[in-house]
Amino acid sequence: MGRQGVKTEYEEVRKARILENQVRLASLGLQKTIAELRTITSKPQPEKKKHDKVDYFSTPLRRSNRVKDNSAPPSKGRMKDFSPEALARRCTRLKVALLCHICRRKEFCGEEDCKRCGALDMDSPCLGKTDCSICHSSYGVLCRGCLKGRYGEELEEVRANKGWVCPHCTEEKGINPYWICNSKYCLKKRKMARTVRNAILRGRKMGYKSVAHLLMDQLQQA
Ligand SMILES: [Zn+2]
Ligand SMILES: [Zn+2]
Ligand SMILES: [Zn+2]
Ligand SMILES: [Zn+2]
Repeated sequence: MGRQGVKTEYEEVRKARILENQVRLASLGLQKTIAELRTITSKPQPEKKKHDKVDYFSTPLRRSNRVKDNSAPPSKGRMKDFSPEALARRCTRLKVALLCHICRRKEFCGEEDCKRCGALDMDSPCLGKTDCSICHSSYGVLCRGCLKGRYGEELEEVRANKGWVCPHCTEEKGINPYWICNSKYCLKKRKMARTVRNAILRGRKMGYKSVAHLLMDQLQQA
């Protein structure tokens, strides 16, 4: 591969990253809107603060460096800046949110009609993630974006299919040994972590439906 080839490949990787980030930002935007709506309906926040910068403002300005004052660690100052409501919201969020096996994001799903993430209704299941009919484990929990990009499947179809089987179980049950999970964690276990680094991009370029389809082909030929 010539220098030009390396350069275009780099460019392509960069573009793919930007695209991924855009998808992520779009879903974050949705979550932000939900969070903002909730803030408006509960109690107006006195001021907006960026979490990491808060500490500088909350500590006294002229304090001798020689006096080691450990009584007010930065984290404590940070906690003070959150209202009990905000903290409660944060705890609920962690309890409600989906944890995708691939991207590991612990967020509200952002699906319009998800009562669990939208109205914090703990009795409703989250509509923004998959559930494996065999293992029902965290290995089978995938968000919309990862399901599509990594496995080429649509969330609606997977959710409608009560017998959906996650890649882990597909492999374990011998349904299709080449259909493997391409999460970072699982590929590391297979010592394939480096193989997948550019697989999203390469797969698309070569016309594959998803990362899993590309890997399936590679494994089959190996
Ligand atoms: Zn994900
Ligand atoms: Zn949800
Ligand atoms: Zn499973
Ligand atoms: Zn996995």
